[in-house]
Amino acid sequence: MKGHPYQVIITDCDHGSIQEELEEFEQIGAELILAQVQEEKDLILSCKEADGLLNQYALLTRRVLENLPKCKVVARYGVGVDSVDLRAATDLGIVVANVPDYCMDEVANQTIAMLLTLIRKTAFFNQKVKSGQWDFHSGIPIYRTKGKTMGLIGCGKIGLEVAKRISAFGVRVIVFDPYLEKTPEGVELTDFDTVLKKSDFISIHCPLNDSTRHLIGQKEFQKMEKRPIIVNTSRGPIINETALIEALKEGRISGAGLDVLEKEPPDPQSPLLKMDNVTLSPHVGFYSEESISELKRRTAKNVSDVLMGNWPISVVNHEVKGKTRRPFSTY
Ligand code: NAD
Repeated sequence: MKGHPYQVIITDCDHGSIQEELEEFEQIGAELILAQVQEEKDLILSCKEADGLLNQYALLTRRVLENLPKCKVVARYGVGVDSVDLRAATDLGIVVANVPDYCMDEVANQTIAMLLTLIRKTAFFNQKVKSGQWDFHSGIPIYRTKGKTMGLIGCGKIGLEVAKRISAFGVRVIVFDPYLEKTPEGVELTDFDTVLKKSDFISIHCPLNDSTRHLIGQKEFQKMEKRPIIVNTSRGPIINETALIEALKEGRISGAGLDVLEKEPPDPQSPLLKMDNVTLSPHVGFYSEESISELKRRTAKNVSDVLMGNWPISVVNHEVKGKTRRPFSTY
C-alpha cells in the first residue's frame, strides 16, 4: 500500500488477464490486488483496507460490507448486481455501479444468427453434408424472410438492436413491452396476445423476474397461430421448457434458438439436444473479445471515478446520494 493513495481489490473474476484494470488504476496511482476469494471471512480479511472493490461472483453480504470501513465503491463486472447487498451498501454510504450495455451488439447478433440459422437451416444442412448427404430436399420447407413479422417480448437495449437488424431483412417488427413510454422507431407496439398470434418469429428480450418467469408456457404456445420460430437469448426460465418441448413435438412452433436454458448446462437426456429444429449455444451471447475488454475497462472506470470524486456513469443504488463515504460536488 506504501506510496499509493488508494487500494483497490478485485474480489474475484474468471477472466484470465487484468490488463485493462491495471491500466485504469495506474492512471490514478492506485494499487490493484487480485484476491480471488469467495468466502465471507476471506473477503473481510483480504478487503479490509480497500477503498474500492471490483466484484464478479463473490457475495458481498451486509456482514462483509460492514467490515470494510474504507470502501467507497463496489463495481460489478456486468449488468446484474445480485452478488451485492444493495440495501447494506446504501446504508453504509457505498456506491454500487454496474455496466449495463457492454454486450448489446453481441447479444443482438447472437439472436439474429440463431434466427437465420433456423430459417435457412444452416446447422441442419451442415450436419447432413458432413455426413455425406448432398441433398437439399431433407431441409424443406424453407421460407422467405421478407414480408414476415417478428414479435419482440421486451424492447429495451438489446431488443431495439434486434429490431434494427431484422428490419433490414424486410421483416415487420411488433413489440410487447408494457413499460415503454414511447414507441421506438421502426417498431409497432402491441399487446402480448397479438405478438403470440401474429408473429412468424418471436424473440425474448425482457428481464427475468417474478412476473416473467414462465411467461411463455403451454397456454401461450397454444395461442401461436403461425408456427413461429422462437429465439431466447434473455434468460432460460422465461420459457417453461417442458411446455417448449411439448410445443416442438406437437409442431406448434417450427423451431427454437436457445442461448439460455432453464437448467444450464442442460440435462444430457434433454430432448432439446436431439431435435433438428433446435439450435443451442452455451449462454455465449454476451461474449466477444471486445465486449469483455470493454467490460473490464468500464468496471475499473466506475471505481476510479468514485475515488477521483466523479459520479460514475452507471450507479445502481441512487438512494446513496448525499450520504456517500466519498463526497461528490455534483451527481
Ligand atoms: P433492458 O433493461 O434494456 O430491456 C428490457 C426490456 O424489457 C425493457 O424495455 C422493459 O420495459 C421490458 N420488460 C420488462 N418486463 C417486461 C415484461 N413483463 N414483458 C415484456 N417486456 C418487459 O435489458 P437488455 O439489456 O436489453 O437485456 C435483455 C435481456 O437480455 C435480459 O434478460 C438480460 O438478462 C439478457 N442478457 C442476456 C445475455 C446473454 O449472454 N445471453 C447478455 C446480456 C443480457
